[in-house]
Amino acid sequence: MATRQVAYFSMEIAIANDVYTYSGGLGVLAGDSLRSGADLGLPMVGVTLVSRKGHFRQELTREGRQTEHPSPWDPSRRMQMVPEEVRVRIQGRDVRVRAWLHAIKSPNGGSVPVYLLDTDVEGNAPEDREITSYLYGGDDRYRLKQEAVLGIGGARMLEARGIEVRKYHMNEGHASLLALELLNRHGGSVEKVKSLCAFTTHTTVEAGHDRFPHCLVKEVLGDFVPDDLLKRLGGEDFLNLTLLAMNLSGYVNGVAKMHRDVSMQLFPNHEVHAITNGVHPYTWTCESFRRLYDRHFPGWAYEPELLVKVDEVPAEEVWDAHREAKTRLIDYVNRAKDADLEYDALTIGVARRVTEYKRTNLLFADLARLRKIGRNSPVQVVFAGKAHPQDFNGKRMIEEIYGHARALKDEIRIAYLENYDMDIASRLVAGADVWLNTPSPPKEASGTSGMKAAFNGVVNFSVLDGWWIEGWVEGVTGWAIGPHPREAVPPEERKEMEVNDLYDKLEYIIVPKYYYERDEWIRTMKNSMEKIPFFFNSHRMMRRYVVEAYF
Ligand SMILES: *Cc1c(COP(=O)(O)O)cnc(C)c1O
Repeated sequence: MATRQVAYFSMEIAIANDVYTYSGGLGVLAGDSLRSGADLGLPMVGVTLVSRKGHFRQELTREGRQTEHPSPWDPSRRMQMVPEEVRVRIQGRDVRVRAWLHAIKSPNGGSVPVYLLDTDVEGNAPEDREITSYLYGGDDRYRLKQEAVLGIGGARMLEARGIEVRKYHMNEGHASLLALELLNRHGGSVEKVKSLCAFTTHTTVEAGHDRFPHCLVKEVLGDFVPDDLLKRLGGEDFLNLTLLAMNLSGYVNGVAKMHRDVSMQLFPNHEVHAITNGVHPYTWTCESFRRLYDRHFPGWAYEPELLVKVDEVPAEEVWDAHREAKTRLIDYVNRAKDADLEYDALTIGVARRVTEYKRTNLLFADLARLRKIGRNSPVQVVFAGKAHPQDFNGKRMIEEIYGHARALKDEIRIAYLENYDMDIASRLVAGADVWLNTPSPPKEASGTSGMKAAFNGVVNFSVLDGWWIEGWVEGVTGWAIGPHPREAVPPEERKEMEVNDLYDKLEYIIVPKYYYERDEWIRTMKNSMEKIPFFFNSHRMMRRYVVEAYF
């Protein structure tokens, strides 16, 4: 008898840099989960959409104005289409759904198949052929149709392929229509569906949860599920997909301890667990550190716990590996942006989706102080990040950063890399000296780029939120910006404390340590490599999912 599989459903999965089926952290996490699944030999399959036209490619004008362009890719060049076809009734039409198959392979022989659903099929109406084109494109209706293909089409495709499923894992609410398909299969038994489903929520803000008016749901899905049942499970006023997933999952998880607490406040009637996120060790470790770890800790990529002995690695080896990664980054930035960055200057990396709560521009809160720091010692900053096409505040923030870069050019060199993707992320999280993250707490559910940085000896300097609350030891693994989110501080005062910390620690601790106490600096790098990767890796995360959520 075939092993029953864990089926991992996600709107985005970052399979490879040039397979544009991801937009950011959620997709990268999904990819890392499946890469760990392959490394650990877990019986898993992934399900996502083919997103033939990608999310978007970001271009920035000289003034930092963002323009968006389609980023098409051709699945037929990289993967095979499977012969099965399933149908999903959407807006009164039977939409044909096909699937591409890609295997995520581990060097140790493990493999996780991923099905990429595609409605660009002969016989479908032109409108329906577009359903799987744009990741997160279009309006509510478009999104709901995509979610119907993902959840309902995905479950049917696995069934058509003869794949027996032990547990369905819904990565974020986008996948939760899957649970309705299961409800229909199991005669409306909520208990049965709960025994089959696990759900991970990733959002901290109410508005981040997908919600649809019931009339739209009716138009798109018809009477797939009786109205009263749908309202009972997914909300009276709107269909809230997070609520739906919570009501139909036997195991609900937030992505960090703080995020668990926030989620339980948003959904007080649900028990939410916390399996803190991790990143895939091999994927996020740069060449020079892979070589260093291979020399000292063979097997580290499967067992990152081995890095607890980084202390024994000579400081020069750590510094040489870092210099190599940093040189590679600086050369790349100078070529791409004609930025004139220096190899020896303290380099701060900042990269994330640009949106108000992430406060990508907090570094510029007090320009006079920033100028003073830059006048005394060379400091340079490399930014990257896309704003969602509809996020006008985010777009304005990029233009502001460009403006600051021009105004500060004599004191601090600042470059902004276009079109943040996995490749740029790999260069940045390895080549910076300091990784800066300044979200507005408690809105960062987890964040993962700081974990990637630690695998490369890059030191975190961040607001206490998400994973950093768990990984931070002040002055040992890096530095905090501002008070703990549990400290009752009025918002304005909190911001003031954050801004003060940001400049004070930069000026009085980080810059001097980097330039005048190099041994101490390398000590901090080693502490990060020793104390962060052994826990914040996706193997540990997946083992916990196996024990607590899947079996
Ligand atoms: C890791 C990664 C992210 C997520 O980083 P956060 O710290 O969660 O913001 C986003 N985009 C890309 C391309 C990444 O590699």
